[in-house]
Amino acid sequence: MENAQPKSLATLVKEISLLIEYGAPVDELNRLNEVLGKYGSDAIALNVFHNFYSYLPEGLDDGITKISRIANQHGAFLFSATTLLGSYLYLATRESAALIGPFSNGIQDQDILNFFGWRDDDHFKKEVGESTKLPEHVPVNESLDLCPVCGTSDGESHAFGCPVEVCPWCDGQLTNCECRFLKTGRDKFSRDSHLDEFMALLEKKGRIPFAAGQHRPSFMKGNEG
Ligand SMILES: [Zn+2]
Ligand SMILES: [Zn+2]
Repeated sequence: MENAQPKSLATLVKEISLLIEYGAPVDELNRLNEVLGKYGSDAIALNVFHNFYSYLPEGLDDGITKISRIANQHGAFLFSATTLLGSYLYLATRESAALIGPFSNGIQDQDILNFFGWRDDDHFKKEVGESTKLPEHVPVNESLDLCPVCGTSDGESHAFGCPVEVCPWCDGQLTNCECRFLKTGRDKFSRDSHLDEFMALLEKKGRIPFAAGQHRPSFMKGNEG
């Protein structure tokens, strides 16, 4: 799952625009496409749009007018999507998004509550408040507190395979340097177990977490979008 190659962002946006055409009220198309347009380089937010317009939670013509980031941990995001008809909770990563349910139903899944640090649904509701008052989500790639690619927070490890992760051995780009070969003595990685072997060495050495506010590694320059 973590190694799945995400679709290109341009492809994703095109697919969503098409879904909007079929799933949204005609007189709202411009407005809804405008909302989508804000997130053209935010893979995590785009997954919410894609899931929403693919499955339309109520089965009725509808569209997202605002999304808000409620919480995030290790590259997993909890969003509220305000729509023409209601408000919904979504869980999203760089790979995919899933509907939790209507915002008003809160979160009943204890695993999700624990993951984000809420004791129970009441705790969640108390801390988050009303969906209409939540601030609009700033695209992940423009949020200075998040890794611009995998969305991990300050001090957390990147999602494995994130091109921003710095190699603890050579200070280069972990996804691109030679260390995986040098450290494992393999000249290619043909199986998952080979990758696991490298992951174990990497964990032992100590991964370099994302540091908000630090200058982006030089290898990221000209490599965005
Ligand atoms: Zn990252
Ligand atoms: Zn290296």
